[in-house]
Amino acid sequence: MRHLSIFALSIFVASLSAAWAGDAATEVKDPNAGKILDPTTAMVWSTEKGSKYHTKDCKSAKVEVTYAKAMADEDTPCATCKPPVYDPATIVVFATESGKKYHLYNCKFAKKQTTLEAAGKDGLEPCGVCKAPALWKAPVKLAQPAEAKKDDAKTEPKAAAAK
Ligand SMILES: [Zn+2]
Ligand SMILES: [Zn+2]
Repeated sequence: MRHLSIFALSIFVASLSAAWAGDAATEVKDPNAGKILDPTTAMVWSTEKGSKYHTKDCKSAKVEVTYAKAMADEDTPCATCKPPVYDPATIVVFATESGKKYHLYNCKFAKKQTTLEAAGKDGLEPCGVCKAPALWKAPVKLAQPAEAKKDDAKTEPKAAAAK
């Protein structure tokens, strides 16, 4: 039984390698190469105390964190090593003529080129077959504490009366 499963695994690995070789032969380039597709799994390098995030090779790079974590910590990209920035407007995905899903370039369902941002706005969902990335929204800082809003409400009638 054990021998059988190892045999099955080696066949599986062999077929995987064949699939990769096939992909390379077609020379279809990934339009999203080097871009951050999923901030919850893409890794960047942060520092222990700083407010910047970095590429792996930057001399300031210390702690490996997900891009999402770096954004939650309000880290900004290092000006020296210029790490990637998540931008759904530049991520290429493909819609279909009438379907409710969007796809990656190498999915058999891919038809009309669009961007992740546009697909999200159109209410399309990521395809589960090609594992298209979901549209990720950066955590938004609370613009104003609740107390500041109360003050606004108090001062507003005064300002109106003064006019
Ligand atoms: Zn850096
Ligand atoms: Zn797909």
